[in-house]
Amino acid sequence: MKLIFEKSVPGRGMAYLPACDVPTVSMPAGLERREKPKLPQISETDLSRHYTELNKQVHGVNCGFYPLGSCTMKYNPRIDEEMAALSGFTDIHPLAPKHTTEGCQEVLDTIRTALCEITGMDDMTFQPAAGAHGEFTGVLLIKQYHDARGDTKRKKIIVPDSAHGTNPATAAMCGFQVVNIPSAPDGCVDLDALKAVLGEDTAGLMLTNPNTVGIFDEHILEITRLVHEAGGLCYYDGANLNAVMGVVRPGDMGFDCVHLNLHKTFATPHGGGGPGAGAVGCKAKLAQFLPKSALMDGEEHVQVRGFAGNFLVVVKALTYILSLGREGIPEAAQNAVLNANYLMAKIKGTFTPAFDRICMHEFVLDLSKFKKETGVSALDVAKTLIDYGMHPPTMYFPMIVHEALMLEPTETESRETLDWAAEVFRELYALAQENPGYMHESPHHAQIGRPDEVRASRAPILRYQA
Ligand SMILES: *Cc1c(COP(=O)(O)O)cnc(C)c1O
Repeated sequence: MKLIFEKSVPGRGMAYLPACDVPTVSMPAGLERREKPKLPQISETDLSRHYTELNKQVHGVNCGFYPLGSCTMKYNPRIDEEMAALSGFTDIHPLAPKHTTEGCQEVLDTIRTALCEITGMDDMTFQPAAGAHGEFTGVLLIKQYHDARGDTKRKKIIVPDSAHGTNPATAAMCGFQVVNIPSAPDGCVDLDALKAVLGEDTAGLMLTNPNTVGIFDEHILEITRLVHEAGGLCYYDGANLNAVMGVVRPGDMGFDCVHLNLHKTFATPHGGGGPGAGAVGCKAKLAQFLPKSALMDGEEHVQVRGFAGNFLVVVKALTYILSLGREGIPEAAQNAVLNANYLMAKIKGTFTPAFDRICMHEFVLDLSKFKKETGVSALDVAKTLIDYGMHPPTMYFPMIVHEALMLEPTETESRETLDWAAEVFRELYALAQENPGYMHESPHHAQIGRPDEVRASRAPILRYQA
């Protein structure tokens, strides 16, 4: 496909602008452009076709199956978008007087009550812009808590090796020393390893449950008890609440603080660079340290982001929660778990699950033996899936599994789609035995084959150069 600059023809265009009816002013000297910007010159027809063509090259949830583990690429109901587009929400100014934005205030209060109920927390802020930002906010609460009590020897945050990479990064950014602990062979926290590192210098533990291999840690109550006994606090990475919302609550598992990715579980698509919201909830003892997410009320507040955060994402999440209701929320979670187990059971005859047991909302395949036998890697399988119209699963994560493919089908996929996906995996398994060379070269039908991934990230070409 040609770039829009390559389609440009000098003199062609579509400017139907009325004559300028305001005085022309010139820019102060030195700020003026030296030459005219090189904009593509193209007719409206060709412009429209260009973007429609680009749109066809993109794979989104509305195009097909998207089992990108840990990202919860579920279908997001249209009604959520419609509510977020209401002019009463889109046309307010963040500095508008409080008595004119009471509806927005009510949105924040209502969703705070709902999500505190879902997580078992006492208070919540909606300021953070995403998951990692929420972690940063939450771990600062833990720091504040210890500091306010004069307990300054607590310098260490414990993070299991199965954690999302943002967890150790967050702890380090907040000034803590990161203590890694290994997982037990079943993928859960190794209790002896945990006991060995707990002590007077423990500020807290960061954990996700179900963890990144899709397993619910059965010792969770003991884990949080041990951390509390040592004087530490427990942080719950709730980026992926899809398996447990409405079923079990982080607060009841013993956690003191949690972040949620509203842009995974609660109706805003994850990925694509769009706005997110990393809501942070906490128990009462931490609530005084929360940044204030109230719309401007004239008072000075600690903030981690301007005003009320990405407010429209919050409107979508509230619509989603209210439309599913008390019965729908746990039903969505249960269907997410059912779909993951169904797909894992259907794929199991060929590719090998890293942990052969009931999973939560996602599961991990371990292709290391398959690679030894066929020479075909997890990357080759992922790239071949593109030709079949399926978005690849998450690859090479979590790090504790080699040649990992992590699949999260979500609750919004039908049984027919899951059957089709299992069939595609079976076909690729057979193809790897017959023609591994073909798979090393995949994808064969996509716009781009295999980009040089190192160069693409180290020396990206982001600008058209004629
Ligand atoms: C996605 C994710 C995060 C980070 O969320 P972002 O919004 O991408 O910053 C953190 N932890 C887990 C477990 C996640 O899946």
